[in-house]
Amino acid sequence: MLRESGGEVSSRCARLVRVAGTIQGVGFRPFVYRLAQRHGLQGWVRNEGRGVVIHVEGDASAVDAFVEGLGGEAPPAARIASVRPESAAFDGTSGFHIRESDRGTKPTARISPDLAVCADCLNEMRDPDDGRHGYPYVNCTNCGPRYSIIRELPYDRPYTTMAAWTMCSDCTREYEDPHNRRFHAQPIACPVCGPAYRLRLPDDAAPQVRTAAIVEAAGLLREGRLLAVKGIGGYHIACDALNANAVARLRLRKFRKEKPFALMVPDIESADELVVLSATARSLLESPERPIVVAPARRAMPGIAPGIDELGVMLPYAPLHVLLFDAEAPAVLVMTSANRSSEPIAYDDADAFDRLSGIADAFLVGDRPIARRVDDSVVLDGVSGPTILRRSRGYAPGPVATLPAARPILAVGADLKNTVTLLVGGEAFMSQHIGDLDQYGSLTAFEETIDDLLRMYEVERADLLVVHDAHPQYASTRLALEMNATHLPVQHHEAHVASVLAERGAFGERVLGVALDGTGYGTDGAIWGGELFAGSLTDGFERVGHLRTARLPGGDAAARHPVQAAAGFLGELGDDVDFRREPFSFPDRFASAVRLLETDVRVFKTTSAGRLFDAVSALLGFTRPISYEAQAAIYLEQLAGRSSSDEVYPFPDLDYRPLLRAVIADRLIGRPKEDVARSFHLGLARGLAGTVIERCRQFDLEAIVLSGGVFQNRLLHRTFVHEVGDSYEVWTNRTVPCNDGGISLGQAAVAALRD
Ligand code: ZN
Ligand code: ZN
Ligand code: FE
Repeated sequence: MLRESGGEVSSRCARLVRVAGTIQGVGFRPFVYRLAQRHGLQGWVRNEGRGVVIHVEGDASAVDAFVEGLGGEAPPAARIASVRPESAAFDGTSGFHIRESDRGTKPTARISPDLAVCADCLNEMRDPDDGRHGYPYVNCTNCGPRYSIIRELPYDRPYTTMAAWTMCSDCTREYEDPHNRRFHAQPIACPVCGPAYRLRLPDDAAPQVRTAAIVEAAGLLREGRLLAVKGIGGYHIACDALNANAVARLRLRKFRKEKPFALMVPDIESADELVVLSATARSLLESPERPIVVAPARRAMPGIAPGIDELGVMLPYAPLHVLLFDAEAPAVLVMTSANRSSEPIAYDDADAFDRLSGIADAFLVGDRPIARRVDDSVVLDGVSGPTILRRSRGYAPGPVATLPAARPILAVGADLKNTVTLLVGGEAFMSQHIGDLDQYGSLTAFEETIDDLLRMYEVERADLLVVHDAHPQYASTRLALEMNATHLPVQHHEAHVASVLAERGAFGERVLGVALDGTGYGTDGAIWGGELFAGSLTDGFERVGHLRTARLPGGDAAARHPVQAAAGFLGELGDDVDFRREPFSFPDRFASAVRLLETDVRVFKTTSAGRLFDAVSALLGFTRPISYEAQAAIYLEQLAGRSSSDEVYPFPDLDYRPLLRAVIADRLIGRPKEDVARSFHLGLARGLAGTVIERCRQFDLEAIVLSGGVFQNRLLHRTFVHEVGDSYEVWTNRTVPCNDGGISLGQAAVAALRD
């Protein structure tokens, strides 16, 4: 519609705009309302299954500015995937309206992850004149819990864990006012109408409530007590990180000998005092996802991270955390997930009391139930930008990739660091971190998470293609096969490589894939973990190289004993060195592993890079059993980080024998362990790069993909990228972990492209 007036051309137009992304429950519709009003436009906005639909009409330039603003000025918690305007007929609405949700379509709308409390809410919480002064459940559409309170979709209060609380008149007024920051904020609450926190001591009949509870809890922490604290996605155990007795008691009670504890500090300045923060690490720390950020330590904290020159630090993300610090809780808190050893985190109150009564001295319990467990996420500033090691709170269940799929696919991951991925409507949704499936509690969590995802996205089991690891003995494999659906096994290391390609949407690109990890079931029944593949997602992969095969006495059980792996790898040398003597001083377990090799009973073939790291760690003094996964490899990387040697050990054609001989020779002449560890890393990286480039030339490939838990080793990763140079692109995981936490995405991708 064109109109001439005074020589100027002005026009009116109407547009229907579809916006997709994580935009429900994050204040997006009120934002659209305000934006439309600002541009003087008429129309309406409505949630629908796949996102939000907007009808606007008015001055053409104003409509353009409006569409521009949808992506550019969206609220902080919104994650926009696409804005698609199309021309529409004028419908002559007057004013702009927020219409009721359409429940007719399938709920493929993205569920928002949980978000850290925002600055506006904190200001209110700290303002003595505000109705929410000191209130630990303050939140708004820009912040607060989502995934951890949703029982089912759509995201409306009756379907959340806030259903039991009826809004007071003040809260209702805010909830219904499109100009208010709490318009349709489902968890809205205040001290008058909402849940509260209470402090429970073991034999306390009348627990402290509200502010008194928090003040007393902070006091207990100052006294060195261990406090169970209900948070967003589960319980933490908190204690004063600078109180060595408290930390020692926590290790004892939690059965956690040496695995590092995460820390929480009140603000970024305090974080700066503990760790060296790059600009990337700083922004990760302050992001609404609020993960644990691993960074170089400024000072040694031997009780917190024994033998490691790094610390995992996070900032407060629940209003309660801020209130605890404001009540003068110790300035550095251990905040570790509340469980014993590697059990799943406790999130249900009764279960928490039951399981934690021998660990915690007191419980700080909030009334609001947690719908599902969501651990803290772990990230670091990696070789090529932010790197996620554990993807959970703040990220899950956000989509991790777009994949073509003829039917819904459920990929059940691997048995360590398990996650599952549901591919539905072309989008891959990855679950939060579930953990290691080697015990009953984790298996229950695994099954609950699958039920949860299927229910939320309304997927029938019978329609599913269920993808699992090729390992016949994995618990995840067994449970997948019990599901009444079609099944597809995917080899572990192909899944690692596929996870990188899936993230990038690189379906047809032919690449040279490198998968280095501790263990995975090979197509020949051997324990793989040092694999090269050529191929693509659409054509499939061919194994085109691997670490020279060694024998591994005891198989996967050897992963706990570095000297057992050493026996296998050193046996291939056939050299006459007595490793029971100085400087190696291997314990008896080595000798029994050697005997096992001689009898050839329970001896497996392996190409595992992780076990090679273990063998070298043993040669450099790590001769005891490990107390957490990858501990020996971490020991080796830490040693190397303390050296600046540029000597490089030889590693031709992925043959580790020259590499090991160099390590042994230098140990025998008393070369510092740190230098030996560094030369091992440099040698491994250079040798690997040489072989990879050779295969790239042979198969005419220009992109290299790196995945597998070994690439969490930054020295190896960085040196490899440097050695490869500019002639090749090097791709690695960005959205999902390169460790087994990323396997389920890779499985889903392989299945989607071959189904
Ligand atoms: Zn807020
Ligand atoms: Zn209220
Ligand atoms: Fe793996």
